[in-house]
This record gives sequence, C-alpha cells and structure tokens, in this order.
Amino acid sequence: MLAACLSGCSLLQAEAASPEAAPGETSSTETAPPTNAEAQPPTDHVLPPTPSPTDKENNEHRKLIALTFDDGPDSKYTTQILDILAENDVKATFFVVGTQVGKYPEVAKRIVEEGHSIGNHSWSHSDLTKLSEKARNKEIDRTQQAIIEATGNTPHLLRAPYGAISKTVLNSIHGYDMKHVYWTVDTRDWAGTPVDEMHRNVMTNAGKGGIVLMHSFGGRKHAIEHTVKLLPSIIKDLKAKGYELVTVDELIASGQYSQSVIK
Ligand SMILES: [Zn+2]
Repeated sequence: MLAACLSGCSLLQAEAASPEAAPGETSSTETAPPTNAEAQPPTDHVLPPTPSPTDKENNEHRKLIALTFDDGPDSKYTTQILDILAENDVKATFFVVGTQVGKYPEVAKRIVEEGHSIGNHSWSHSDLTKLSEKARNKEIDRTQQAIIEATGNTPHLLRAPYGAISKTVLNSIHGYDMKHVYWTVDTRDWAGTPVDEMHRNVMTNAGKGGIVLMHSFGGRKHAIEHTVKLLPSIIKDLKAKGYELVTVDELIASGQYSQSVIK
C-alpha cells in the first residue's frame, strides 16, 4: 500500500472513486472507543473552540470558504502552493501523510509557520475502514508524532484517505480528540482534470462554509501542475464574489460549516 501510494496515483485514483458518496453513508455497528493503551492520545490535545451563539451571529454576514490540500508535503508542488497562498495573503489547510512529513519535515514546518492549518491524513494513505483498531490507531498516532516533531503543532483535524469513514473510524478519530473533515467541492485534480473544468466546478459549487478538496502531491502525471495553475484564478474569483478564504479551524470557530461535513 505504501509503495503504491508513494509511487503516484494508484491510491489517489481510488480516492475519488469511492468518496463521492455523501459523508456519513458508510457505517459500522462497532462503536467501542479505542482501547489500545499504546495508541491513546496525549492529554494536551485541544479541540477547536465550540462557537458561541454570539460568534455565529457575528460571523453570519461573512462568506467563508476553506481551501484544502491533501497528500503532501513534497518539495515541488507544496512549496509552489505555499508561495501562491503567501502572495495572495490566503490561509489554507493541509492534510498531510506521515511518510511525506518524514521526508519533507521542513515543508511541514513551513506550512505551520506561514499560518496554515495542518491536519492528519494517515501514515501511509491507507483506507482506515479496512484496518484493525490497532493498525488504524498506529496510522493516526505515527502521523501525529511526525507532525509534532516537524512542526511543534498537535493536529486536531483529520481527513481519512479517500474520505472513507465509518462509525468505528470516527470513534478512533474522536478518541484522539480530533474532528474528521470531509469536503463540499471535489476538484478531482488528482485525475489531471483540465484547469478550466476545475475552475467552473469550484465557482459553481462554492458556497458559504464550503470546503474545497485539492492535492499538493501525487495523482496522475503532471496532475498537480493543474492545481498550481488553478489556484491563483480561484483565489481571485472567489474573493471577487465576496468570499474570505480561511483555514478549516477558522471555519469551525465561526460556526459556519455543515455538521455533515465536519464531525
Ligand atoms: Zn489523500
């Protein structure tokens, strides 16, 4: 699994093949919380603050949207994406794979230093619904440790590879005091989707409290070059429509998100 993920698109193709089903459609009858003592979360995890009614009222007039980038970091595309975000004064969220953090800890560090949110996307990009509890917790835990080591930050957001979650997987994630983050707009950038097609998709389906799924590594050959080309134009055009581009943390803090997307 690991080798296939790192070599490119085979797993990422599956990512788009399965998760287009609405979030929460997968389910499991298992509800036990993680019991593996080795994989118990550290006690310093802090969930994003639950928005008060006043926060929600104060944020009601804002049009917030979050750009998210999965599967990095790397030294080629993630850095270009960070440059574009910096040039445009936009904060985003990166769901990183543990093995990639191990290879490019300085890029992971840069993500955090430049004010972006960093989230857990598993160690080896495995389908967490197909793993034993022990293996699943190891995927989560090793990645947490790699991110903490590289950035000093403890993630409190996780996006399961392929968006594949079940009640059991959610219980594991919540056992680490993390929230699972799905998306509302799938660019299908990993497939090499043409830039104009992705632009139309984002502008048509973007909405208040939305979350746009893109990648900063992997996919088919040259696919992420399209993502890099797409980014400046969606930033400009979303801003022109009155959107503020924020991190998933800010979306949560504002109360402006769908309960079915962030669990
Ligand atoms: Zn992924």
